[in-house]
Amino acid sequence: MSIIFKKSVPGRRGVRLPKCDVPASTEIPEKYRRLSDAPLVELSEIDVVRHFTELSLKNYGVDTNFYPLGSCTMKYNPKVTEKLAGMEGFASLHPLLPQLRHGDLLTQGALAALYDLEHLLREICGMDAFTLQPMAGAHGELTAMMIFAAYHNKKGNKKSEVLIPDESHGTNPSSAAIAGYEVKPVPTNRETGALDLEALRQKIGEQTAALMLTNPNTLGIFNSDVDKITEIAHKYDAQVYYDGANLNAVLGKFRPGDADFDAVHVNLHKTFGTPHGGGGPGSGPVGVKKHLVDFLPISRIVKRDDATYALDYNYPDSIGYIAPFYGNFSVCLKAYIYILLLGAEGLIEVSENAVLNANYILHSLKKEYDVPYLRTCMHECVLSAKKQVENGVHALDIAKALIDRGFHPPTTYFPLIVKEALMIEPTETESKETLDAFISAMKDIAEKAASNPDELHKAPVTTPVSRLDETLAVKSMNLVFPLDVNE
Ligand SMILES: *Cc1c(COP(=O)(O)O)cnc(C)c1O
Repeated sequence: MSIIFKKSVPGRRGVRLPKCDVPASTEIPEKYRRLSDAPLVELSEIDVVRHFTELSLKNYGVDTNFYPLGSCTMKYNPKVTEKLAGMEGFASLHPLLPQLRHGDLLTQGALAALYDLEHLLREICGMDAFTLQPMAGAHGELTAMMIFAAYHNKKGNKKSEVLIPDESHGTNPSSAAIAGYEVKPVPTNRETGALDLEALRQKIGEQTAALMLTNPNTLGIFNSDVDKITEIAHKYDAQVYYDGANLNAVLGKFRPGDADFDAVHVNLHKTFGTPHGGGGPGSGPVGVKKHLVDFLPISRIVKRDDATYALDYNYPDSIGYIAPFYGNFSVCLKAYIYILLLGAEGLIEVSENAVLNANYILHSLKKEYDVPYLRTCMHECVLSAKKQVENGVHALDIAKALIDRGFHPPTTYFPLIVKEALMIEPTETESKETLDAFISAMKDIAEKAASNPDELHKAPVTTPVSRLDETLAVKSMNLVFPLDVNE
């Protein structure tokens, strides 16, 4: 066996490969050669097909079952976005290709798509500029906190704290802390389920660098006082951040820019057609108002005078690189296709159906389950297993019992401020039949909790692996089990 490197590529005269040190003979020396054939397993095609098909069926996903995991927005994503994003000209594009000026050549189409997506997001969110670089929601939060820090440093502001509501997603305090700020929680008003304005007034001050707000928040409640909140914060030059992971609830209804938010991130993978799970891939573009544009990460996409596109690195105040090349390109591309396919009216319908479906579930289950904040919810609703706990049945038992009934459990024990929380997000893509089947499973479980609670403690019984020993897991793994938070 020999490997030939020295000849030029056949049929292409003039092509010369770079010189490299190839030994005169590339024959494998005698002592390294096999004496007999390798005992490789041989399988027929059908056996291989069956093996991989069986593996694929073990996978639980949106394409197989209802997946109402609150806050995570596990919605069905149209296959057409995959198909278009997989086109050769996009999928085979190398990130190091030069940005040519010749109209339709190589990178120009990709750059045009990204440039266009930035502008669509600007319009959807009411912001002045966007970067598509951040690779996830949490990454977007960190990017924005770094932008805020750069803004305060440039102005000579001495700021040390970031205020965050106590119901917020855990990534918020992490991002603020990684950016070097001290995190101060602000309580939620127990009556309204929204940020407590009085508490905010007491906590905010010259030391406040930023306030991070999720709206609708993780209780699924829309805070209509946001313009008052941004006004209070701006008195101290505190920057207000809109965690737009849940933008799927307000598309075409509310724009964070109009309520004077300074920066926002959007989870493309929860709002537009980009499937996610298992930790990725995602994309968390960040939008900012004019006074923060100079601090955006590099590179940025620019449109030249001759209408061609390029990546520009010349922004001296930029926070610098936060991702290699240009973000999660294929995820951005799928979101772009999704937005173009649905158009403005389609996007409004997405949010209307997401909100309708969540309210349908909330009101269908409000008799059987405790509802800590009973009011119109947005894209998700939060129930509590408080009533079932009287019979010794916890949120965890209900989640496991749902697995036996063919459903992915909702998010449990989050938000932390609700005891025995069950956070349900049906998303806009589910039919009434699916919602009804889920509701009847939940009613059945509530009935079992009253008549035969022990049965629920054994769930799941239909899966190959039964319930894990949570106590052992906590002890041996040194994990903090969320149940303790509520006790
Ligand atoms: C999902 C989510 C995030 C984090 O997004 P990732 O892409 O998972 O990093 C942040 N805030 C809220 C409210 C979320 O729902």
